[in-house]
Amino acid sequence: MLSEAIANELRAIVGSNWFLDSPEDLATYSYDGFLPEYKPDGIIIPENREEIAAIMGLANKEKINIIPRGAGTNICGSSVARQGGIIMAFHRMNRILEIDRENMCAVVQPGVVNADLQREAARFRLMYPPDPASMFVSTIGGNVALNAGGPRGVKYGVTRDYLLGLEVVLPTGEVIRTGGKSLKSVTGYDLTRLMCGSEGTLGIITEIILKLVPLPTSKATLQAIFLDVDHAAKTVSAIMASGIVPTTLELIDKVILDVISDYGGASFPKDAEALLLIEVDGEEVLVKAQGERIEEFCKERGAIEVQRARNAEEAEMLWQARRTAFGAVARLRPNILVEDATVPVKRLPDMIRVIMDLAEKYGLRIGVLAHAGDGNLHPLIMTDLRDEEEMARIDKALDELFEAAIGMGGTLSGEHGVGIAKDRFIDMEYSEKAIEIMRGIKRVFDPNNILNPGSFL
Ligand SMILES: Cc1cc2nc3c(=O)[nH]c(=O)nc-3n(C[C@H](O)[C@H](O)[C@H](O)COP(=O)(O)OP(=O)(O)OC[C@H]3O[C@@H](n4cnc5c(N)ncnc54)[C@H](O)[C@@H]3O)c2cc1C
Repeated sequence: MLSEAIANELRAIVGSNWFLDSPEDLATYSYDGFLPEYKPDGIIIPENREEIAAIMGLANKEKINIIPRGAGTNICGSSVARQGGIIMAFHRMNRILEIDRENMCAVVQPGVVNADLQREAARFRLMYPPDPASMFVSTIGGNVALNAGGPRGVKYGVTRDYLLGLEVVLPTGEVIRTGGKSLKSVTGYDLTRLMCGSEGTLGIITEIILKLVPLPTSKATLQAIFLDVDHAAKTVSAIMASGIVPTTLELIDKVILDVISDYGGASFPKDAEALLLIEVDGEEVLVKAQGERIEEFCKERGAIEVQRARNAEEAEMLWQARRTAFGAVARLRPNILVEDATVPVKRLPDMIRVIMDLAEKYGLRIGVLAHAGDGNLHPLIMTDLRDEEEMARIDKALDELFEAAIGMGGTLSGEHGVGIAKDRFIDMEYSEKAIEIMRGIKRVFDPNNILNPGSFL
């Protein structure tokens, strides 16, 4: 519980409108995209670096937990007050400060919504490639703190690959800058990258410099339907090994295709077991040739139907199934757990098989969406958190799922982070020594353990 005296000091820093503690506000900020509820003691919404430095100075002195939060769309529970404390939200810091055409970069505040940056960059014929499916609401601050990826990641990589520099307010209230607009720098440890994926545990990001790339002039979008999910998964590794680097290579399995059909998002043959959504971009001539090659590839490997969009409208229709997948699945049970195990791309068929076997073994309904081109699987587990018996079966299935992923040379999380959702699994992937090093880094940044203390460490 926060004392009234501290609450008043916080109000004095940001203005009384920007410190919230009504029961409704506390309830609103008790959740993020991961499901369990953790009620905070207050919500603070600063306007600039100076206010953040003052808040952190006070929080550090009084040992008050602060939990940074963008749009709260993360699925690992890394923006809730697990051990109590104040949520710090950034929707007042949502300005694109600069698009620097000559240096091909953007300077933004942390609360900028990803899609707004995409739109602004496009006006300069530039592109910011990371495109998480949550891009219409998630913020660049949250994307950096979780190193978000997206469907374009196969060709363009993830947030980390576009991060040039940061301004950070440390948990002690001190301010540091890392990196800058230059494309290369090997001066000292790479603190910029250390912050990326740190899940709001090391510092508050107040300004971000991001690399931009030229906007591609042409793209081809294809959809291929398979009667055998194994053939679809093998087609993915074959395309990746062929030398073509698709922009996007997504897989949707039968469980989800059936749900989408029922929902009216699109319709597919009744016996379809998998759909691949494939996109290539670049110069027109190359894109055309690659589109044709991919179509052949899919047909040779058993696709019963391949559609290639002839224009932007048709491309949008082919994306429809992927875009409606979450909404469609969400109708079936009260809750969906979105998992994120990732394996080397060649092991994709094996991992899909493991997920299907676990669903059968534990009597669960699990569908698979995958950023298949980079081996990143999202098993969607449909459940009801109130059903303790089913949740116990899910826990067992997850133990086996992550053991299998790591056994194949994969990882617990390709893009969603560890947070409170997966902290119990972290020692499957890292040795005790490696975890101790991470704890040591946390202590250097945050000696009083006040910044997002309930998260993964
Ligand atoms: C429908 C749906 C689809 C999704 N698709 C994808 C996808 O394709 N790819 C993907 O990678 N993820 C995806 N996600 C997960 C999520 O959207 C991303 O992780 C996103 O980056 C979170 O951004 P946010 O603004 O919502 O941040 P939050 O969820 O609010 O916070 C995320 C983390 O960032 C920290 N944080 C936020 N702002 C700051 C700051 N200024 N300084 C320091 N730390 C900060 C928080 O403490 C927290 O640890 C999806 C989620 C949903 C619900």
